[in-house]
Amino acid sequence: MTQSTRIGFLPSGRVRPLLFDAFPGLARDLAFTPLAHLPTPIEPMTAIPSLGSRVWMKRDDLCSPLYGGNKVRRYELVLADIRARGKTRIVTAGGLASTQAMATALYGRELGFSVRIVLFDQPITAFAKHAMLVDADAGAELMWGGGYVSTVLRTWRTLRAETHENALILPGAANPLANLGYVDAMLELAQQVEAGVCPRPDRIVLPTGSSGTLAALALGAAHLGWDTVIHGVRITTAFAANRLTIGGIVRATDRFLHARDPERWKRQSHRVKYVLDGSALGPGYGHPTDESIAGIEEVRTLTGEPGEVTYSGKAIAALHRIVRAHPNENVLLWNTLSTPRPTPGPDARSKVPLSLQWVLDAPEVA
Ligand SMILES: *Cc1c(COP(=O)(O)O)cnc(C)c1O
Repeated sequence: MTQSTRIGFLPSGRVRPLLFDAFPGLARDLAFTPLAHLPTPIEPMTAIPSLGSRVWMKRDDLCSPLYGGNKVRRYELVLADIRARGKTRIVTAGGLASTQAMATALYGRELGFSVRIVLFDQPITAFAKHAMLVDADAGAELMWGGGYVSTVLRTWRTLRAETHENALILPGAANPLANLGYVDAMLELAQQVEAGVCPRPDRIVLPTGSSGTLAALALGAAHLGWDTVIHGVRITTAFAANRLTIGGIVRATDRFLHARDPERWKRQSHRVKYVLDGSALGPGYGHPTDESIAGIEEVRTLTGEPGEVTYSGKAIAALHRIVRAHPNENVLLWNTLSTPRPTPGPDARSKVPLSLQWVLDAPEVA
């Protein structure tokens, strides 16, 4: 640890995930650091009347007053594991508007890690500029990666330089430890359904990138014996997210669970139910489309904070089509975009390295 843990944002009441009670084999093997304030609320989406009365939203945007969204549950076991291995610095890579970069910078600081982030090019939006200022203000060391290939090279060089202390988190962190956060989230949803908060969803809609969250929800639903379809709105190319890549993530996570608690976690890979929906992607990852720009304001109507064009804008654009195509289904939109977003201090700009300053002055595409 390079600095002591700050207090205030980390949840005090929650000591272990639901998964540890359901699968004691996990509790034996895995370290856990609570980051999320759970359970997150579920609300009907009546603020958008055209969606009708059978659509609910799971407010994972509110899972922390520091920074919410789907990276928080995904990081509880991952950061605990990095801590347990005695690493002091986390290295990760992401696009200029990366939510993973923000989560790593903020929770890394909270837990006393130093953080290095290699940022690759993507269309420059107001959200991207804000994200970069948040990263820098949280004390993360930022590097400009350029395109994908040079980002891989630069990240690799960073790791090779001081292997002993670095822990690498790949973009999307679609590994089993991270995915368990969303298997756990399905157990949470099952409790809420049981308590009558919302009906059991026929379909769960969420934006899908590295697909770890989608794979985990699908495994969780299969374990529960639900026939809920997990509907992934693809926000990246079919090359990066397809049934082959997702099948691999599902099987790896399934094996991980079965290996640690073969009594209680039966293999589920063959039973997962999901669809991939590329209808909202447009020209590619992070590229604005007319409907995703309209989605920015719809997210504001729902949560009080604007959406963005990479994830939430595209998910809500697709949601309208999904609800029209399945009028008799109960649909749950799993909101993965944080509402709390820290305000960078006045000197945040000076903490952005020269190699990335141009981003702050570039025209915004959305
Ligand atoms: C990272 C992220 C996703 C995608 O999650 P994956 O598990 O990588 O598919 C979706 N929405 C938001 C807001 C995100 O930050």
